Amino acid sequence: MMRSMIIHLDLDCFFASCERVHNSALNGKCVAVGGRGDPFIFDKNPAQGKKLMNLNSGAFVPSLFHAQYDNKEYFKDGDTLRGIITTASYEARAYGVKTAMSVHEALRLCPHLILLPPNHLLYHTMSHELMEFLATVVPVMEQYSIDEMFGDLRGWIADEDTDAFIRELQHQIMGQFKLPVSIGASCSKWIAKLATSAAKPYGTRVIRHDEIESFVKDISIGEFPGVGKALSAKMARYGIKTIGDAWRSENLIRSWGRAGHDLYQRLRGEDNEPVQSKRSRKGIGLSRSMDHPIEERDELYRRIHILVRHWSHTIMKLGVNPTTYAFSLGFDNGLSSKKQYTLYRLFNEHFLHHFSIEKFRELDIYPHSSIRYIGMSATKFTSHDPKSFDLLEIQNDTKMNKLTDVLTQIRDKYGMDIVRNGSEL
Ligand SMILES: [Mg+2]
Repeated sequence: MMRSMIIHLDLDCFFASCERVHNSALNGKCVAVGGRGDPFIFDKNPAQGKKLMNLNSGAFVPSLFHAQYDNKEYFKDGDTLRGIITTASYEARAYGVKTAMSVHEALRLCPHLILLPPNHLLYHTMSHELMEFLATVVPVMEQYSIDEMFGDLRGWIADEDTDAFIRELQHQIMGQFKLPVSIGASCSKWIAKLATSAAKPYGTRVIRHDEIESFVKDISIGEFPGVGKALSAKMARYGIKTIGDAWRSENLIRSWGRAGHDLYQRLRGEDNEPVQSKRSRKGIGLSRSMDHPIEERDELYRRIHILVRHWSHTIMKLGVNPTTYAFSLGFDNGLSSKKQYTLYRLFNEHFLHHFSIEKFRELDIYPHSSIRYIGMSATKFTSHDPKSFDLLEIQNDTKMNKLTDVLTQIRDKYGMDIVRNGSEL
């Protein structure tokens, strides 16, 4: 009775599924979530277009970035339709609609497609809630991306019970979260991930150790996690088209140094890479690309303040304390500037506004060029342990952290725009 399985979960058309949780009229329909530079977040008249979803109307609906825009308006820029498809429901995929396709092309293929603007805070929150649930079912879970997780069943579930366990888990997730998920299991992370792909949509699949070879042999090498376009092209030059071909090219692949060795082990399912629960969240970031680059610096900083407010709210909602912050600006001249800072401060919105503005001013090194892109991200989370924070700032930060807590509650209740920074007006 071995206990050595790793499971991989991949939520089916996750963004579209989240939207369906809150609007069951979307069930069974051709639905897609698309994204664009998101001009609405910068509206000077914010009450308009941002209708608050009442907390009582859903299980855990947070205040939303832009819950209730007129869906068609979101994608319009004058007479032009902008944006690309982020996630399409399987009904829409049947018409050929897929990720990264332009909204324009998607509507041509599927004229009755229901297009929705993205609601990232909702997706992050649902993903986070699901992770919290999973942590109560599987002791070691790793969040791999917003809609993919690994779990370690070693020592927990006997191998022969894996199939029943993941089917039950799939039903539980559907029952509690109304989210369809596909689950794969095998003795390594990457084979488990391949098993999930084979099970999609809404399936489960276990690949036992002695089944790996026959399972992978005809799968194209480019499908293997981490083998990108460049590497598959290189392998194709050696006649390696499938994972089976790669298995037979051990000497060649191992001759590519450390990376080659690692890759070969992974392809065989013999890498022993652990499920890392600590990497549960890599970071919280926000970025916006402008369809119309911003020349005016006052307008730029007004927008940065707005982004920081939304960013701060997300960080607070997830209850983490970042210690590394990265900022970047993309200029119309094609250049960009970015920088990352590590500092041990108890998180609070007041600090984040000041710090961000100061750093963006330093990054604004081409004052005569318009700004095309604004990005910010927070990583390396630590616990709220005062011992590890900057002592000179801790008193004030503690006060400000409490205030931010209150702000978060108020925004949950009355919406993101109820408390804004003076510089946004
Ligand atoms: Mg997915």
